[in-house]
Amino acid sequence: MKLAMLARNPNLYTHRRLVEAAEERGHTIEILNTLRCFMDITSHRPTVHYDGRVIGPKDFDAVIPRIGASVTFYGTAVLRQFEMMDVYPLNESVSIGRSRDKLRSMQLLARRGIGLPVTAFAHSAKQAEQVLAIAGGAPVVIKLLEGTQGIGVVLADTPRSAKSVFEAFRSANVHILAQEFIKEANGTDIRALVVGGKVVAAMQRTGAADDFRSNIHRGGHAEKIRITAEERSTAVRSAKIMGLNVCGVDMLRSNHGPVVMEVNSSPGLEGLEKATNTDVAGKIIAFLEENAAKGRTKTRGK
Ligand code: ADP
Ligand code: GLU
Repeated sequence: MKLAMLARNPNLYTHRRLVEAAEERGHTIEILNTLRCFMDITSHRPTVHYDGRVIGPKDFDAVIPRIGASVTFYGTAVLRQFEMMDVYPLNESVSIGRSRDKLRSMQLLARRGIGLPVTAFAHSAKQAEQVLAIAGGAPVVIKLLEGTQGIGVVLADTPRSAKSVFEAFRSANVHILAQEFIKEANGTDIRALVVGGKVVAAMQRTGAADDFRSNIHRGGHAEKIRITAEERSTAVRSAKIMGLNVCGVDMLRSNHGPVVMEVNSSPGLEGLEKATNTDVAGKIIAFLEENAAKGRTKTRGK
């Protein structure tokens, strides 16, 4: 296969591993810097311009989007252009767009009965008390809708601190949600990596001793874990509902079963491959070998 990867930094572990896995399996792979791609979107014969070249429908069999959260808008537009050319995307632009909006993702998952922490959302700080009450009252988790790596996730221990955190965030004009605090998760979460409807690797992340957040970026550590059948099916169903072929599903073990916090459409592979000693990159390329073909894209932008 001739593969393209939309990515900005070729040196990241995940990007290096995907290149390595593709080449090991006998494919060619080229990294295209997402932000250097441009396109004439009105042409009947869609193409992508890149570094003085015109990329057409025959140049690649599949495209691997590695679109950072900060370039979602432009990145999904470039990916969509590949979809217009009928180049098979590892994850479709529509699904990536959905997954980048935590609120929208949770609404879609809730509609299909996936377990979620009880979560409330409102526009105005005037409703702070009621919103916090829906989420079960203090201790309660308050999250920035657009946060990553655990930054912007706050545990408010008392009703008073919950209300003031809520108001402070709202006055900064950012969207936040209030969420039931899953105390019994004990600062630990589960990341299950789904590829083509199967969990191919799973790890448990445990936060630094004094932190309820388990993010590696916040000092947490990862180890391999055997997940339960219920966790496995929750991860696989979440991927399916989001329409993602490859994703990382983050769950907490709650008293009422697994609850999903987030479905990540560009999961990093470093922690997972190292903790589980699994060739996840190879499994992703193998998925493309089986599925990349013209006419296999479901949404093509709508
Ligand atoms: P980010 O997307 O920034 O990583 P998350 O929503 O995944 O933010 O939260 C970061 C971490 O905080 C999680 O990995 C988890 O350990 C902890 N956490 C988040 N929400 C809850 C919750 N409702 N109850 C308990 N712990 C939580
Ligand atoms: N285009 C719609 C969306 O943005 C949905 C397409 C679909 O259901 O696959 O969610």
